[in-house]
Amino acid sequence: MNIVHGHIGWLEVICGPMFSGKSEELIRRMRRSLIARKRVQIFKPAIDNRYSNDEIVSHSDLRIRSQVVRSAEEILDLLEIRTEVVGIDEANFLGAELPEVANHLADMGKQVIIAGLDTDYLGRPFEPIPALLALAEEITKTLAICVQCGGPAKFTQRLVESSDLIVVGAAGLYEARCRRCFEAGSHRQQLLDFVKRPGKGP
Ligand code: ADP
Ligand code: ZN
Repeated sequence: MNIVHGHIGWLEVICGPMFSGKSEELIRRMRRSLIARKRVQIFKPAIDNRYSNDEIVSHSDLRIRSQVVRSAEEILDLLEIRTEVVGIDEANFLGAELPEVANHLADMGKQVIIAGLDTDYLGRPFEPIPALLALAEEITKTLAICVQCGGPAKFTQRLVESSDLIVVGAAGLYEARCRRCFEAGSHRQQLLDFVKRPGKGP
């Protein structure tokens, strides 16, 4: 649902666990904006320099061109004044400044569409998405399919223990689980640190 008319700014958030289709939904909305001939810019965080590239890639291998940023503030630096729609993926890696930046963009009259994980690997609220939900005009919660029982999954189950800050890759490291099948475990890391490997599908 895109209820933006004229220059009224707007903030939409797409959140949920890994594999729930957040990137697909962001790409779908950005493509629709392009079909409507709106000027769009899409950003994603530079999580791992080795794999920085110029595309958002979903687990189902949908792709769209994007710009890499190292911080939320850098979005303001790279913003072109005529841009009407701003898309941001993997927002959970952009830190505590993102809500202020997103609010500022919406106040400037931009349609802002943000996708990110809303919970960490223990199922706890994962900032900055909870703060963004409070600021948003529109919220979409996506669910994955539980790989154990086939039910609706809102948890991201970590399958390995790692002391690395960022664990690159998807298959084998994390999987979607429902409330009943989710096991919080006792891993040391505090935050879900998954990042998709650019250019690779599931
Ligand atoms: P997210 O951005 O939320 O991690 P993506 O948009 O990148 O999700 O990928 C969603 C796609 O992942 C689905 O359309 C499907 O093809 C694939 N997929 C793989 N495992 C699952 C799962 N357990 N539940 C749902 N989709 C899955
Ligand atoms: Zn289950």
